[in-house]
Amino acid sequence: MTVSKPKMVCKTPSYLSKYIAGGTRRRTTKIAFHYTGAHDVKGINTINNWFNSINRGEQGNRYASSHFVMDLDGTIYTYIPMKRIAWTTNAANYYSIGIECATTGNDDHYTDEEYVSMVKLGAWLAQYYGLDPREDFIRHYDVTRKICPRYFVNHSDKWKQFKLDCYNYLHGKLKEKDIRNCTNGKGNSKIATKSKKEQTKATKFEIITLDKLNIRKVADWDADPVTTVKKGQHLQVIDTVDAKNGSTPMYRLESGLYITASDKYVKKV
Ligand SMILES: [Zn+2]
Repeated sequence: MTVSKPKMVCKTPSYLSKYIAGGTRRRTTKIAFHYTGAHDVKGINTINNWFNSINRGEQGNRYASSHFVMDLDGTIYTYIPMKRIAWTTNAANYYSIGIECATTGNDDHYTDEEYVSMVKLGAWLAQYYGLDPREDFIRHYDVTRKICPRYFVNHSDKWKQFKLDCYNYLHGKLKEKDIRNCTNGKGNSKIATKSKKEQTKATKFEIITLDKLNIRKVADWDADPVTTVKKGQHLQVIDTVDAKNGSTPMYRLESGLYITASDKYVKKV
């Protein structure tokens, strides 16, 4: 399962001054989330009026930037190239990717479009760097105790939910259409659980018996066989289960009965 790279709009300046970019980062073990600091200010304004001004040296000795900026309409802007160091997360700059997110409302939550983009970007970055969103996504707060990103510092349960959404999206358990913005009070993303029928369909396969074999009513090696099958029989398997009183697992057949799963006696076809 792979997630595709989300659409991004490049806003990388043609010249990167020392005020916004450091050298090449040697490792990337964390993805750090931030908020831009004032609600209902567009991400593009943060780039144009803040980062670009810093880049030109207009803010004195101020160093600040990030790799990505998320906007209220869901646009993902790239700013500092991913392989370079950005001045976003203080001591973590040398091993992290920094993402600045625009916010809305007095509590600095995220818009629905932005939240979906945050999940898609987060999942893609986790895939790119081989990270686990549940462990390797951090808030600026986790490094400096600064109240950033404000909503996720004030609502750590929603921070946990966001990381879980990224994880589930990364592993194909959460589809884009099912992503729910957990920061606007309308509930959390729900993982669609497969019906029993779908699960059975997904795991169903055929075996051929390599010998005359016992069939049991329960997955228990001590249970008396209810019948036997001849060598060369084709059978449909719907599940593999641990069997009692033995270390060899058993296959549950379409008939609801059990047969050995040992590849000495049965072979997948
Ligand atoms: Zn921050």
